Amino acid sequence: TIKLSNLSKKFGDTVVLDEVSLTVNPGDVVALIGASGAGKSTFLRSINYLEAPDSGRIQIDDLDLDYATISKNDVLALRRKTAMVFQQFNLFERRTALENVMEGLIQVKKMDKPSAIKVATQALHNVGLSDRMAYYPKFLSGGQKQRVGIARALAMNPELLLLDEPTSALDPELVGEVQASIVDAAKSGQTMIIVSHEMDFVYNVATKVIFLEQGKIIESGTPEDVFYAPKQVRTKAFLARHT
Ligand code: ATP
Ligand code: MG
Repeated sequence: TIKLSNLSKKFGDTVVLDEVSLTVNPGDVVALIGASGAGKSTFLRSINYLEAPDSGRIQIDDLDLDYATISKNDVLALRRKTAMVFQQFNLFERRTALENVMEGLIQVKKMDKPSAIKVATQALHNVGLSDRMAYYPKFLSGGQKQRVGIARALAMNPELLLLDEPTSALDPELVGEVQASIVDAAKSGQTMIIVSHEMDFVYNVATKVIFLEQGKIIESGTPEDVFYAPKQVRTKAFLARHT
């Protein structure tokens, strides 16, 4: 079980995260929804310290870390347990698909090259890219690039996978193949938090939905609870605009 407690973050005078707490159980797929500017990306980025929270705590496995006083070594330890999939893929353009997936295995996991090749090959196979391993990103479609991004994250065997709008930069006809890879990961038991504006997808994949507004979780529950019986007026209004 992963426990996030009281994450807060200000940019200047603007409170972007206001004491956000969340418990994520093994195998949970938590969908984070909310309007633009609600703080969704900041929350995801804060979890693995791509953004520095002003305060808050994370308990994950044997780690129990206070974000306000986190050390460099703790940040590295935290990043070995989390992996991120970005909206804009963030692939290395000068490396092939296979090399992109191998990078973290060698640099972060300290794997030897043959082991990294083996793990990366399997990860690309799992997202249906066995025939694109030697391709450079510029010769891949958006959907293929994002599946490389997903393979790269999953290859690290993270305790927690973080996905920030993984399909929002894609042409509509490429969204399905990427969503399918995420569903496969969920089915195999991968614990994840995903930010998405695709409400059908959220309804289908999530075990838990949380609605963030102005840096606060104002509603959470199963997809059925949140979509069909929202308690908050503001959740209802949001869903009316997005479904
Ligand atoms: P979207 O759905 O548009 O991606 P979001 O919910 O992900 O929105 P965030 O990107 O977390 O929202 O931004 C939350 C608030 O924090 C916004 O008001 C944004 O302008 C502000 N913000 C985010 N990053 C920074 C930054 N580096 N410096 C200053 N303000 C920032
Ligand atoms: Mg965002």
